[in-house]
Amino acid sequence: MTDIVKHVDTPLNEIDELYDRLSATFASHKTHALAFRLYNLKQLAYMLQDNVPAFQAALAADLQKKPFDVELTEVWPAIGDIDLAIKRLPEWMADESKSKDATGSFKLARPRVVKQPKGVSLIIGAWNFPVLLVVCPLIAAISAGCPAIIKGSEHSPASSALLAQLIPKYLDPDAYGFVMGGPEQATALLQKRWGHILYTGSGQVGKIVATAAAQTLTSTTLELGGKSPVIVSADADITITARRMLSMKQLNAGQVCVAPDYVLCAKERVDELVKAMKDTLDEFYPPNSDRSLIGDSFDFASGIRNSRDYERLVKVIEAVDEEGKLVYRGETDPSRLRMGINLVRLNHNGDGETTTLVTEETFGPIIPIIPVDDVDAAIRYVNARPTPLALYVCSSSRKVFLDVINKTISGSAIWNDFSMTPLATTLPFGGVGESGWGSYHGFYGFLAFSHQKAVIEMPLWLEMAQKARYAPNFNKKMVR
Ligand code: NAD
Repeated sequence: MTDIVKHVDTPLNEIDELYDRLSATFASHKTHALAFRLYNLKQLAYMLQDNVPAFQAALAADLQKKPFDVELTEVWPAIGDIDLAIKRLPEWMADESKSKDATGSFKLARPRVVKQPKGVSLIIGAWNFPVLLVVCPLIAAISAGCPAIIKGSEHSPASSALLAQLIPKYLDPDAYGFVMGGPEQATALLQKRWGHILYTGSGQVGKIVATAAAQTLTSTTLELGGKSPVIVSADADITITARRMLSMKQLNAGQVCVAPDYVLCAKERVDELVKAMKDTLDEFYPPNSDRSLIGDSFDFASGIRNSRDYERLVKVIEAVDEEGKLVYRGETDPSRLRMGINLVRLNHNGDGETTTLVTEETFGPIIPIIPVDDVDAAIRYVNARPTPLALYVCSSSRKVFLDVINKTISGSAIWNDFSMTPLATTLPFGGVGESGWGSYHGFYGFLAFSHQKAVIEMPLWLEMAQKARYAPNFNKKMVR
C-alpha cells in the first residue's frame, strides 16, 4: 500500500526564496546547455517510471482513477513526450539559417534565428489530469532551457503533493520547483516577473492570468476549455460515430477539456444516432454489471471532482425538461460522486436556447444532441459561439470535413474521431480565441518557452561595399 503524501500550502516566503534561487540559476546560464536539458528530461522520465504505484495511489485518492487509466492517460503520454524531446532537442536548438532568400548584403551576414530560453517560467496546472498537465509544460520549459516553478491544482491535492516531493528529488532543485496551494499562491506567483507563463484551466481564471501577465508584458500560453462540438452530417456512419464518441466521452467521467461536449446532428439522422448511442452504452458499459461506468471493475471509471460539481451536473440534467428530453439516464452513486453518461435530445435547433447545458461547458458525463437542418446550419451554429478547443466532424465524405474546417475556427479538428489531438505530440496543442492562445507539446512547447532572436553578423570586410550608404553618397536614387 503506497502512502498518500500530505498536501500543505507552500508558505509565501518559500515561494520568494524559490524564485530567487531559480533566478540566480538562470543568470548563471547553467540551464542553457544541451547536456543539462537532456539530463533533466531523462530524470523526469525516471521520476514517472520509478513511481507509477505512487501516482496510481495519488490519482485514486484525488479522482478515483484506476491504475491502468493512470498509466495510459497520465504517465505514458508524458514519457512519450520526453522521448520525442530527447530525440529532437539538438535539432530544435540548432540555429535556423535564413540566408537562402536574403537579399543584398544580408545574404553575406549569416542571417539566422537563434532560439534562446525566455527565462524563469511559471506553469499553473488544472486538476483533471494533474500529472500530465504540469509535466508536459515542464518538458517544454526544460527543453527550451528555462528554469520553472510549477503550481499544481489544490483540487488534486494528493497528486500535487506527490509531485512537490518528487520533482526536487529527481530534477535540479536550483532550476525546478513545485508550489502547492490555490489562488493565494497563484496570486503571489503572478506578481513576479516571468520569462513565460503557461496556464491550464478555466477561461475565467485565464483572464486573471492574462491581466497579471499584462502588467509585466509577459508572454503567455493559455490552455483553456469551452464547448467542443461534434457535427454529424446526413451521410455519417452512425454506428462508428456512436462507438468512437462514447469511448472517448467516458474518459475521466467527461471531465476532459477536449471531450465531445455537444452534438449537432442532421435532423433526419437524430433518431438513428440516439438509438446507436443507447445501444453502444448498453453494450460497452452494461448497467448493474462489472463493466458499469460507476462500477469498480471498469478500468476507466473515475469520480466527479467534488460534490459541488456533482450537484451542478445533477441540476443541468434536471433542467433539461424545459428544452429537451433525457433519453438515456446514466447510473449514479452520489455517495461516491459517480455518474454514468446521460444523453439529452434537445427540441430546438439551437436558436433561443437558455439551459446551461447548451450555454456552458458541460465538463461531465452529459451529451446534448441538437437537431440541425444540415452541415451549413451546424457551421453557422458553431461560428455564432465562442471558438472551440476542438471540433469533430463525422461524415463519410472527406470533402465535408475539409469544408467544415475551412469555414470554422477551432484549436484542432478531427475527422471521424474524438479527443485524440493531445496525444499526437508532433502537433501543436492549444486553443484559439476563447479556448486559449498559443500552443505546446513537442517542438511547439519548445518554441513557446523560447525567444526566437533574429541575428545578423555584418562582416567588417563588407565595408568596401558600404561606401554608398555613407554621406554624402547616400541619396534618394539609391533607395528607389
Ligand atoms: P481553474 O480555473 O479553477 O483552476 C486552474 C488553476 O488556476 C489552478 O491551479 C488554480 O489554483 C488556479 N487559480 C484558481 N484561482 C486563481 C486565481 N484567482 N488566480 C490565479 N490562479 C488561480 O480550472 P480547473 O477547474 O482546474 O479546470 C477546468 C477548466 O480547465 C475547464 O474549463 C477545462 O476545459 C479547462 N482545461 C483545459 C485544458 C487544456 O489543455 N486546454 C486542460 C484541462 C482543463
